[in-house]
Order: sequence, then C-alpha cells, then structure tokens
Amino acid sequence: MATSPKNIPPPPSTIDDKPRVLIVGAGLAGLTLAILLQKAEVPYDIFERGLDTRTVGTAMMFGSNVSPLFTQLGIYDEFVDKSKPCETINIYDDARELQFTRDFKLAAEMGGYTNRVIPRTTLYNIILNKVPQDRIHKGKKMVSLYQDDERAIIYFADGTHHEGDILVGADGAYSAVRHCLYDTVDRIGRLSQSDAEDLPYSCICLVGHSGPLETEKFPALKDEVCQYNDTHSTDIPYSWMTFTTKDDVICWGVIKYLDVQNSAAYSREQRSDWGEGATDTMCNEVRDFPIPGGNGSLRLGDLIDGTPRAQITKVMLEEKVFDTWYHGRTVLVGDACHKIHPAGNRGAVQAFHDVVALANWINVLPRSAKVSDIEPAFRAYKEERFPFVQEAAVHSKNLSQVSFTPDMKTVMSQFVTKHMPSWLWRAVNAKTAGYRPQASFLRFVKDNGTVSSTHSRSYMETRRILEARSSSSAHAAAAAAVVV
Ligand SMILES: Cc1cc2nc3c(=O)[nH]c(=O)nc-3n(C[C@H](O)[C@H](O)[C@H](O)COP(=O)(O)OP(=O)(O)OC[C@H]3O[C@@H](n4cnc5c(N)ncnc54)[C@H](O)[C@@H]3O)c2cc1C
Repeated sequence: MATSPKNIPPPPSTIDDKPRVLIVGAGLAGLTLAILLQKAEVPYDIFERGLDTRTVGTAMMFGSNVSPLFTQLGIYDEFVDKSKPCETINIYDDARELQFTRDFKLAAEMGGYTNRVIPRTTLYNIILNKVPQDRIHKGKKMVSLYQDDERAIIYFADGTHHEGDILVGADGAYSAVRHCLYDTVDRIGRLSQSDAEDLPYSCICLVGHSGPLETEKFPALKDEVCQYNDTHSTDIPYSWMTFTTKDDVICWGVIKYLDVQNSAAYSREQRSDWGEGATDTMCNEVRDFPIPGGNGSLRLGDLIDGTPRAQITKVMLEEKVFDTWYHGRTVLVGDACHKIHPAGNRGAVQAFHDVVALANWINVLPRSAKVSDIEPAFRAYKEERFPFVQEAAVHSKNLSQVSFTPDMKTVMSQFVTKHMPSWLWRAVNAKTAGYRPQASFLRFVKDNGTVSSTHSRSYMETRRILEARSSSSAHAAAAAAVVV
C-alpha cells in the first residue's frame, strides 16, 4: 500500500535551509541528479572515483519517456542535434536474413517524441557539461560510510571524508554505497534474503563505438535515420547489434550468454565494471560474426578494426533488482539498486526516472530533517519507481530471450514478439508511453502525445506541498501588509 510522507516538516526557504546532498558516482544518474539539484538550488557535491571521463560505451536509445525531462534539463536541443532518429529495430539471423522488425512509430505518436539513438559518451558529455566542474570531486573512491540522526559521512580511499545531510549512492552496479548500507541493514536483521545473495552473471558484453568510417564501405551511414540492427544466432550463445550514429560513427555491441555453470564460475573468479580492459580475446572470438548491410560480406571485425582500442570495453552483466533502496539518510539510484539486461535499452531510462522522482522529494525536505522525516520521502520514491523497474527488468529479460536456445520458454517468447497482435502492441506502448516523469519544481513541458502523460506520484505530491507552501507564504505576506 502507498505510504504518503505526511510528516514532512515546514518548508526550506533559502539555500541554507536545504539539505546538503552527497552524491557518490558521476555516471548518468549522479550527474543528472546534480543538474536537477542545481536547478532546485539544493547544495550538493559529487564524488567520482575516476580521474577522467571514460570513452567507452555503445549507443543508447531514448524517446518520449525522457524527452520532457531532457527539455527541463536544458539538453534536449543538443541531444537532438547529436543523435539520429530511430523508427525500427531490424532483427536478423546469422545468415543476414531479416527475421522481423520492431517498430517504434506508434510509441512516438503516443508519447509525442521520436526515439533517437546517441553514443553513450556523447550523451554523457552533454550532461557533464551542464554540471559546474567545481562540484565534481574526481579521484574520490568512496570506501565506507557513517550515518546517524544528524548527518551522513562518507570516507574515501585517500583517507579524506565529507559530511552532508543526505547520501545518494549513484555508483553503479558494484555500488560501494550499497555494500556499506547492506552491512548496516544486515546487522539490524533487516536485509532480505535476495539482497544478501550474489546473483551469478548472465552474460558478458563487449561494446565499442568506432571512429569515423568510410561511407562507401558502410553506406547505411549516409541515411539520416539510425539503422539499428540486431543479429541473433541460432547455433551459438551470442547476439550482436550495430547502430549507425552521427559523424559516420557506428556503435556496436556483442552479448555472450553464459550457461548456469559458466556464470557461476565467472562470478567466483572475476567481475568487471565499465572501463578499458583486456578485450583482445573476445574481439578475436567475435570478429567473423556477420553483420547486415554494405556489400553483404561485412563482419564485426570490420567494425573492431575501425574502433580505437580505448573505445572498446568488456563488462560482465548481472541482472538484479534489489529490494532495499534506502536506509536512514542513504538512498540508492540507477544501477546501484537495479541492473537491467541491455537487450531492452531500459537501464539508463530507469536511472533518469529514478533521479527525477528523488529530486522532487529532496527539494521539499528542509536541512533540519531527521531520519523520521527523510525515510518517508525515500519510501515514496521507491514505491513510485519499483513497479516500473520490475516491469523493465522483465521486459528486457524477455527480449534477451529472443535468441538461440530452443527451449519452450524461448520459443514462446520469440513467437509473442514476432506475432504480437496489434491491439496488444498498442496496449503495451500506451502503458509505457504514459509515464513521462518531470521535475515538479521546474516549468512543466507539454508535448503532442496522443496518450496523455499521467503525472508521476512524486510530481503530484511534491507539487501539492510546493503549492501549499506558496499559498501560506502569500497569506503571511498579506497578513504582514495588513499589520503595517
Ligand atoms: C563508462 C561507462 C560505459 C557504459 N556503457 C554502457 C553501454 O554501452 N551500454 C549500456 O547499456 N550501458 C552502459 N553503461 C551503463 C549505463 O550507463 C547505466 O546502466 C545507466 O546509465 C545507469 O547509470 P548509473 O549512473 O546508475 O551507473 P554508471 O553509469 O555505472 O555510473 C556509476 C559511476 O560511479 C562511479 N563509481 C563506482 N564506484 C565508486 C566509488 N566507490 N566511489 C566513487 N565513484 C564510484 C563509476 O566510476 C561511475 O562513474 C556504462 C557505464 C559506464 C560507467
């Protein structure tokens, strides 16, 4: 049942009254939260373990679900300028035969925005440039935390520490904030069985984005629309995708699906986060995989050879939605609390949606807020987001199964995806198109979607709080004027 945070104390009126927020991790989630807090005039600092912006990653696709938020953040025009529209995903087999097409035109009509594809690093830099650089503290690897009813303190590997009122763990799939938080929750006997377990990895992913390529060899690059091709093998446990993007760049990725035995072995022996690393073995393993387009003989090796090594990375992918998202003054966002299979293109979208809901709540908390004031706001944030995250995790898992293993579940999943009746496709699209969350403290962005956007819970409840506050300040000002 929904719990409404009724006991939120009186309004913060100046920046000195707003909680000081510590954000661990300058990924897409941490930086986007920073822009929102900057606009809400909430003081914050970001702590990032890396020293430089990394250059790895493939492409990401975004549409109506985040476009209004991008407009509020002031990045939508640049996002459009540096991305390509994408209307379909073409699914091929490994003989380069088109099997079926997933069409996004209906989703665009319902939500009011066309889907667009952009290299992750390009989007990352657009967002990074909106955050004042003096708020980002680089080379700060968070290692432990302390929190009580008055404050939260984070400690770094370099021996320094920093204190604030609210701590946000935006530090990705292997979140140090989550590990420390779960130790505390475990000590008081409140950690769920599922959170205590390490899930085995389900796949290994190799991703890259090329340098500028010859358009004669890759003619699809000349198309203004992104060619998003996904190839599924029937014999080997791999799928691979390519996306044409701006500036004659092709982003690409290969997913190697692990069986239960292999995934358990990988989890015991190694884990790898996004970053440059030993990619040569996997590059060699996949270079002969056929890709559609060109003169009909293109292979992944043609893209690998056109990609600088620093722009290729290999990462283990764990799929898990954690139960515990907050405790005390600490809250998790993005991959720190849910790691979703990349097949559905939903991971980054969920991270954006998390931070807008969380920013709405943080904006209405005063600096004097106690844990008993903060936790109801965090609970409301999780209650809004958890069902969407679970749905995204299931959807992405289903898409990842449109693949090789000829078991019954896979056959069913393939059948439903290929032959979905149009009424069901419409219903699926309408459900996701309706959720286009926005910040309640910024001007609302209207769109032309044929499915109206249902205001998110955090938007409505915090809007009500903000309106009640502004009408009570107006009354106070009027009363003061009468007295004078
Ligand atoms: C370099 C990189 C490339 C990626 N490429 C792709 C891709 O091609 N396709 C895809 O689907 N997803 C990719 N992802 C993941 C994708 O960005 C996320 O799934 C999604 O955007 C949610 O982001 P996040 O901010 O929650 O986590 P992340 O994007 O993982 O960001 C977490 C940040 O926290 C920092 N951090 C971690 N631990 C600590 C610590 N102890 N102290 C301080 N800082 C810490 C990390 O360095 C990182 O900058 C990539 C992530 C990264 C970091």
